[in-house]
Parts: sequence; structure tokens; C-alpha cells
Amino acid sequence: MTEAPFVYVDEDKIISHLLCAVCQQPFINPHKPACKKHTFCFSCVKTLSSCPTCRHSIHGVEELKPAEDQMLLTLLNELVVYCSFRKRGCSWTGPRENLEAHKERSCEFHHCCWTARGCQTKASKKELPKHQVDCEYGDAQCPEGCKFVCERRFIANHLDQNCAFIKQRRREEELRENQRKQKVGTFERRVL
Ligand SMILES: [Zn+2]
Ligand SMILES: [Zn+2]
Ligand SMILES: [Zn+2]
Ligand SMILES: [Zn+2]
Ligand SMILES: [Zn+2]
Repeated sequence: MTEAPFVYVDEDKIISHLLCAVCQQPFINPHKPACKKHTFCFSCVKTLSSCPTCRHSIHGVEELKPAEDQMLLTLLNELVVYCSFRKRGCSWTGPRENLEAHKERSCEFHHCCWTARGCQTKASKKELPKHQVDCEYGDAQCPEGCKFVCERRFIANHLDQNCAFIKQRRREEELRENQRKQKVGTFERRVL
């Protein structure tokens, strides 16, 4: 059994002929075993050794045939589902067969790939790459060239406090400044 990828609107009103006896959910990729009488989701029946309804034996996955009942397939395709990202705020509902296209083309609730790090950005599949290129939570390398990598939002802090390259440069500048002061001092002692 697989986790239900669809959340149905009006789940209670779905007619029982559309439900798989194994998972109790509307068929996904419906197939019939060798008994040719009963229908199950492919993933529900593919590992079984007999039909769950009539016990007719199943000798292998090659015995399973896709259900060809057009009425059944149409009714399944027309079941109304919520968008998978409903909990993130997407209010889309539509026929089950359109869900993939909605998510690919119009859903604006895809998560940034750095969600686990705390990025809250949601966008369409098309817009997301633009955000991810300079997402504050993405990896960034120190622009000074010290090879240090951290989340982009911490780079300023690194440059301010920890960058070995910048520290080295400051030490060199201090050194030059001290040498300059010494020279000026020597010069002043000589002329005064
Ligand atoms: Zn099933
Ligand atoms: Zn059967
Ligand atoms: Zn959506
Ligand atoms: Zn992000
Ligand atoms: Zn650095």
C-alpha cells in the first residue's frame, strides 16, 4: 500500500464502485488480476499472491491487466481533489487528472529547497530557481576568497569577525601603518 497522494473534496460522497478493497481509497492506476472480475490499485495488488476479494491465485505481476472500463477511468479522473500543498495555503481544487498540471504550471506554493534551514519562501515551480540562486539560507562562499562556506545570511558576520583573509589583510595594514609611523618618528627626531 502506498500513502494516499490525493486528498479528496467530499470524500464521503465518492461511490463505493470507485474504491479499492485493499486501501479503501479511490483506485490509483486500477488493475485487474487473473480473475478478471475485481479491480485494485496497481500498487495494492502487485505484491499479492491471490485476489483479495475472490482468492483466485496470482502468479506474478505480469498477470495484472490495466482496467479498461472507460466509465470507471473517467469517473476517477473527474474526482475533485485539493492541491497537495493545501496546508501551505493553496486553495486550488480540481479534477484529479489536472493536479499534476496545476502543480507544474500554476501552483505558487512550492517550497524553496532550503525550507529545512528555515526559508519560508513559496513560489511557482518556474519562479523558485530565481529565488534559490540568492536565497538567504542557501550556501554561499566567502567573497574574499578564503574558501569558507556558510548560509548566505551569515556571510556578513563572517566578513566582519572571522574571515582569515580579512584578518591577515588588517594585520598587514597595521604593520605598514606602524612602519610608517616609525619612519616619521625617526625623521622627526632627525630634523628636530
Ligand atoms: Zn488500493
Ligand atoms: Zn477476484
Ligand atoms: Zn497548489
Ligand atoms: Zn529560500
Ligand atoms: Zn572569508
